[in-house]
Amino acid sequence: MGEAVTSPAAGNGSDLPDYAPIPRSALGPALNDQGYYVGRVERNLYWVTDGVYQSAFMTTSDGVVLFDAPPTIGGNLRRAVDEIAAENGVTNRVTHLVYSHHHDDHTGAASLFDGDVVRIGHEETRRLLSRDNNPARPVPEVTFADRYTLEVGGERAELAWHGPNHSPDNIYIHFPDHDTLMFIDVVNAGWVPIYNLNLSEDVPGYMAAPATALDYPWTHFISGHLGRLATREDVAVHQQYIADIEAGAREALATVNPVPYYMHYGENFWAGVKAHLDAVTDQIVGPVVAKYTGVLAAADIEVFTRTTSFAIMQSLRLDSGPSGPVHP
Ligand SMILES: [Zn+2]
Repeated sequence: MGEAVTSPAAGNGSDLPDYAPIPRSALGPALNDQGYYVGRVERNLYWVTDGVYQSAFMTTSDGVVLFDAPPTIGGNLRRAVDEIAAENGVTNRVTHLVYSHHHDDHTGAASLFDGDVVRIGHEETRRLLSRDNNPARPVPEVTFADRYTLEVGGERAELAWHGPNHSPDNIYIHFPDHDTLMFIDVVNAGWVPIYNLNLSEDVPGYMAAPATALDYPWTHFISGHLGRLATREDVAVHQQYIADIEAGAREALATVNPVPYYMHYGENFWAGVKAHLDAVTDQIVGPVVAKYTGVLAAADIEVFTRTTSFAIMQSLRLDSGPSGPVHP
């Protein structure tokens, strides 16, 4: 992506579009030879990235607590824990694994840490992992409904569920003694969300979640994706991007006249729906892509803003209402 393509043969990427350069501020530290970076967040809390995914762990006198196990980082989680434990002269034994949510791209390396490890997650994470029945992602033995305080070796993490957002089970992981919040798959530091609000299931929940995240006291934010930690300013920019889409959607729904599209297509109602909603979506997307290109990385990959705009516009109709005028 973004690299010069030298071969002219078709189907090998030579016909792929170019995009705006990625701002340096959207990128993180260089990876080591094994393809990962491990850094201190604060004190004994560390984060690991492969440049696209993020995980975290806390070393304690009683063992290491791991937060998520993305398969792309995979065996490098073990290497990162070993490296830090050796540096600090503490145990490298992983005793606890916390799931942020059930999605495989954040949990698929969980079975690398078995044996005596205690797995902790939301009760809905347990239900969904039971449903998915994948031996790579063992179900959590310890579950909670709203809140759970995890204490290991005198260190603590506060787990909380504040309703569905990206997924039904996505939790907030607060480290009150490390000035850090870990909250996955909602905000991408310095980047736009990918398709459909980062492939999210509950649109109002996703839209409201950053405000809940900001209600916590923290300086460091582990977002689960890309190469650097996030700041409160990153969350605010994300909120503004979503707010701009919402405002554009309200405006477009109120101003684009559907009648000509349905008149044009007559009894093919679905063709009328498509033409009308395409026009509404076009009106939302153009100004947002223009405003955020150069501000958020990948804002010029229009389909991301288009699918996110479509999902928000439909949520405004179906969740908030009104979906349309009431027949007299
Ligand atoms: Zn996810």
